[in-house]
Amino acid sequence: MLRRTDFGDYDLIITFFSLSRGKISVIAKSAKKSTKRFSGVLELFSGLEIVCREPRTKGLPVLEEATLRQPFAGIRADIYKTAYASYWVELVQGWIEENEKQVPLYRLLEYVLEQLDGGKVPEAALSVLFQMRFMRLCGLSPNLINCSSCKAEIDQAHQNNLAVDLSKGGILCNRCVAGSPRQMVLSKGTIKQLIWAESGSIATAGRIRFTPQALKEGQLFLEDFVPFHLGKKPRSLSFLQQIRG
Ligand SMILES: [Zn+2]
Repeated sequence: MLRRTDFGDYDLIITFFSLSRGKISVIAKSAKKSTKRFSGVLELFSGLEIVCREPRTKGLPVLEEATLRQPFAGIRADIYKTAYASYWVELVQGWIEENEKQVPLYRLLEYVLEQLDGGKVPEAALSVLFQMRFMRLCGLSPNLINCSSCKAEIDQAHQNNLAVDLSKGGILCNRCVAGSPRQMVLSKGTIKQLIWAESGSIATAGRIRFTPQALKEGQLFLEDFVPFHLGKKPRSLSFLQQIRG
């Protein structure tokens, strides 16, 4: 469940990211007036099995039944976890079209929410993993292999740090660095771990043990890169950065 909004005095409009139909919005009648109507299971981030009725004429499908499968209550009980989950969910909510089935993205979001709820993997590592793979699924991966400006191959063997230009979409070669106004630096080790994070299966990528430096640099880089390329900064990202200090 990605989002809930009030609709009149009694009803809620709920946006789900579903396995079979992608993002869908449905109306939950009387759910605002009485939490008993759906047994109190309509909670953000939770995984539900839902039954909907198509509207007779126009309008949204009507939620008939909702059964809780993945409560993820550990996320909602913790403000940091809630802030991270809100950011990921806002990316899916804001940048994905309705009614487009997207199984790999569903599995990615499910994976990071499960791990976040379980509490064994650092939140920052999950966020780096989510952002790298989300951007790849959107076709907006950062370019971390060739120069983003002149496309020349970069010999990373002789450089410990590489300059990044967000507007060009990734790293720069030594010749192009001079003409670039806005720069950030990523270490070679961080670049390697970021590439691992977006490659292969989610289960394999989920086992990466990021170095503290890669986590710090990766997080700083991605939280600039993602809003820049999506054209807007998610409100939940500002909140996350605020509470993290
Ligand atoms: Zn270049």
